[in-house]
Amino acid sequence: MSSVPVAVVTGSNKGIGLAIVGALCKQFPGDVYLTSRDPGRGQAAVAQLQQEGLRPLFHQLDIDDLQSIRALRDFLKEKYGGLNVLVNNAGIAFKVHDTTPFAVQAEVTLKTNFFGTRNVCTELLPLMKPYGRVVNVSSMVSSSALAGCSQELQQKFRSDTITEDELVQLMTKFVEDTKKSVHQKEGWPNTAYGVSKIGVTVLSRIQARLLREQRKGDHILLNACCPGWVRTDMAGPKATKSPDEGAETPVYLALLPSSADAPHGQFVSNKTVRPW
Ligand code: NAP
Repeated sequence: MSSVPVAVVTGSNKGIGLAIVGALCKQFPGDVYLTSRDPGRGQAAVAQLQQEGLRPLFHQLDIDDLQSIRALRDFLKEKYGGLNVLVNNAGIAFKVHDTTPFAVQAEVTLKTNFFGTRNVCTELLPLMKPYGRVVNVSSMVSSSALAGCSQELQQKFRSDTITEDELVQLMTKFVEDTKKSVHQKEGWPNTAYGVSKIGVTVLSRIQARLLREQRKGDHILLNACCPGWVRTDMAGPKATKSPDEGAETPVYLALLPSSADAPHGQFVSNKTVRPW
């Protein structure tokens, strides 16, 4: 078994994830895994970084596929006996003018951004080694979507005692409400991406609380963040940040020094803790 530290970035064959892998290859003292649901796209991305003199490793990972997540889990357990850095970056967004019915957009978006990310956490968080760092890439849109929720929903999403099961029930209810076209009447904002990212931010707060309660001596730090508005296939060419600039906050959180005991359980943008 290797004692080399290991970092994994989900959805890293392009965009912000690829830039995070590039930065970690330069700054993280260990093995860095570029992962992709499609091995061809993943290997092409590895080759691109190799041309820059970097040495990422590759593992397949589709966060929508529990078997794929468990294969990565078993590989990490066997080869490294755990994991030091996990960046949950993979995500999807329908374009603003996409005509796919809203209920379908809601189901598909929540499936990857919330339920897929949660499944990765369920399988990989138990592997986190002492002083591990977990970064869940959310979005400022989670804050604006929260402001668009009913007072009752806002209270639930800001609660310091909400459980993961309760959050899963709420995310499931959103998808069901969109199918019945009652989501707005039920207090939801009209954004599937926004609700999925509320889920990611609240999940991060819950997981950080559990780590604090159950693994206090392990000094693991887990946070949600917004990379900013970044020029990728998702956000388009008009966005203000380059992918490297978008990677800065996730990489800062992934490399918090072992002496740090904060931030933890926070929502961070531009390396600054934001109110939730
Ligand atoms: P992107 O260029 O579209 O890249 C998204 C990445 O996620 C791709 O590698 C994609 O793989 C991967 N992915 C999607 N579904 C996946 C799945 N089921 N399993 C594994 N990988 C999957 O988007 P980006 O702008 O870099 O976004 C990265 C993260 O930042 C996302 O979570 C996004 O919500 C968040 N974010 C972005 C912005 C922005 O302005 N760009 C702002 C706030 C937050 P494929 O190539 O196979 O599709």
